[in-house]
Amino acid sequence: MSSLERYDRQLRIEGWEQDLLYSTTAFIAGAGAIGCEVAKNLAMMGIGRLILVDYDYVELSNLSRQLLFRDADIGRGKAEVAAERLREINPQVKVDHHNSDIRDLEEDVYRDVDIVLSCLDNWGSRRWLNSVAVSLNKPLIDGGINGFYGNVQVVIPKRTACLECQSMQLIPREEKLAECTLKRRRPEDLVNDLREQGIDLSVELAEELFRLNIKTVYDLKYARLDLVLSHKEGEIFRAIEELRSKLMPKIPAIQSVASVVAGIITTHAIQLIHKDRLGKSPTGLIVYDALNSRLTRVKISRDPACIVCSENEAAPINFPFDLRQTVLRLKEAVASVFGFPDPEILHADRRLNDDDVLYDAGVRENDILYVSTKRLYEPVAIRIVT
Ligand SMILES: [Zn+2]
Repeated sequence: MSSLERYDRQLRIEGWEQDLLYSTTAFIAGAGAIGCEVAKNLAMMGIGRLILVDYDYVELSNLSRQLLFRDADIGRGKAEVAAERLREINPQVKVDHHNSDIRDLEEDVYRDVDIVLSCLDNWGSRRWLNSVAVSLNKPLIDGGINGFYGNVQVVIPKRTACLECQSMQLIPREEKLAECTLKRRRPEDLVNDLREQGIDLSVELAEELFRLNIKTVYDLKYARLDLVLSHKEGEIFRAIEELRSKLMPKIPAIQSVASVVAGIITTHAIQLIHKDRLGKSPTGLIVYDALNSRLTRVKISRDPACIVCSENEAAPINFPFDLRQTVLRLKEAVASVFGFPDPEILHADRRLNDDDVLYDAGVRENDILYVSTKRLYEPVAIRIVT
């Protein structure tokens, strides 16, 4: 078959097995600078199937880095356009695309995946994808860039540290603080928080945001507008967008660094696909400093108590708490211990209401409660101890 001729040069690499690539399905989260590069690399190399996911649309400012997009694509869904281009690059590769948030995909999409490549630009989504990969026992490679720096982490579930293992060190400080402030908030609190950052907000607008469940600076930055607003128009949408651009100046990024980081991700993906026959992929964190051409490997240990990857992650975590307190107080405690901005508490399949006192809601000592959050794929079990 002539199809092998396409891969002639890589077939000359000792240990290379094209069949292993043909039979691999790679999941790529994010079709930005890194995601486009990784997808292009794997398509050219002849991966069997790619699943591309991105909810975003092509913008002019993407075109300096995201090689699969052209001027005429502005306004179109990134995942769809990227899929079209990848099929042109290598028609032998099967490409599926989803113009959606990774959290909205059917579970079936993840089931056939052999390797997960995380090319995302925010901590919340990366943390969630890490928990999916560990839960479903799929190897994960996570990569990110910031200016002339890049980083890559290879996660082999239950064997190497996952992203959550060191989350309290690695979560960007500002997000951690924001995730931990789930106090009984009033619109005035949001006004004050923004004022501290030099941003003016009227109380009226803050009240309107509260009605949309946007209560913290964190919510303002990351709330899914498609979920809180019925249509992406109107004054409130524009106001949120404007606040967002003030709060989140875009991260500086350059194509050459994205290419290197994507090259590192792809190389280790190929190693994992070859089941170490091309050498073992490194574990821990790889940090790339472009201006000094320096690659540094940082050892990261597994946390035996990690809520995502510990051996007995299903075992409930003892959580000291007074049953005469309300569910809201418990949520605040949970938010600050685990760094969840949005915990929901379930007791025997029943969602507990904020104002309920735990004892009155039927919760007793040693009962197990389940905490769900948009940060993790599976709920965390806690055992209430007093
Ligand atoms: Zn872990």
